[in-house]
Amino acid sequence: MWKCHTTAKQQPVPDEDTLVFWEGCRRGRLLIQQCETCQSFRFPASPLCPECLGVRSTWRDDPGVGEVLTFCVYYSELAGQAWKAELPYVVAVIRLQYSGVKIVSRLVCNDVAVAQIGLEVQVVFEAVSGHLTLPQFVPQSVGDRGTTQCKTVRS
Ligand SMILES: [Zn+2]
Repeated sequence: MWKCHTTAKQQPVPDEDTLVFWEGCRRGRLLIQQCETCQSFRFPASPLCPECLGVRSTWRDDPGVGEVLTFCVYYSELAGQAWKAELPYVVAVIRLQYSGVKIVSRLVCNDVAVAQIGLEVQVVFEAVSGHLTLPQFVPQSVGDRGTTQCKTVRS
């Protein structure tokens, strides 16, 4: 079976196109790029609109509410040894209600059995270093009841 042999967790590297998105996350805001020509939202950020090739865009605040389109539960450290302490964990494709974009992210829950297609989720932010904060998602119903089934996430 293929396994990753990196020792540290792989983290995104902000670049010229995504810097605004990552800075938004650091401030607890989910900023999604919207084309000024055709109004379509796009993620990840890019210099050209994939719909109309327009170059002008605006960053919009997305409330971060969405639903799980599909997900995968990791029971072994396929992504590397650094993930072993997190097992089992859920990686999901989330469709955001406001902008409609799809984001691949963590679904943070102590009980992976809560993961299901159609689950309503809410964004939370976790600072993983002094300069990088990741958007992650928690089940909305769990969030409403407190953190009994949900790991504490730094915001
Ligand atoms: Zn466009």
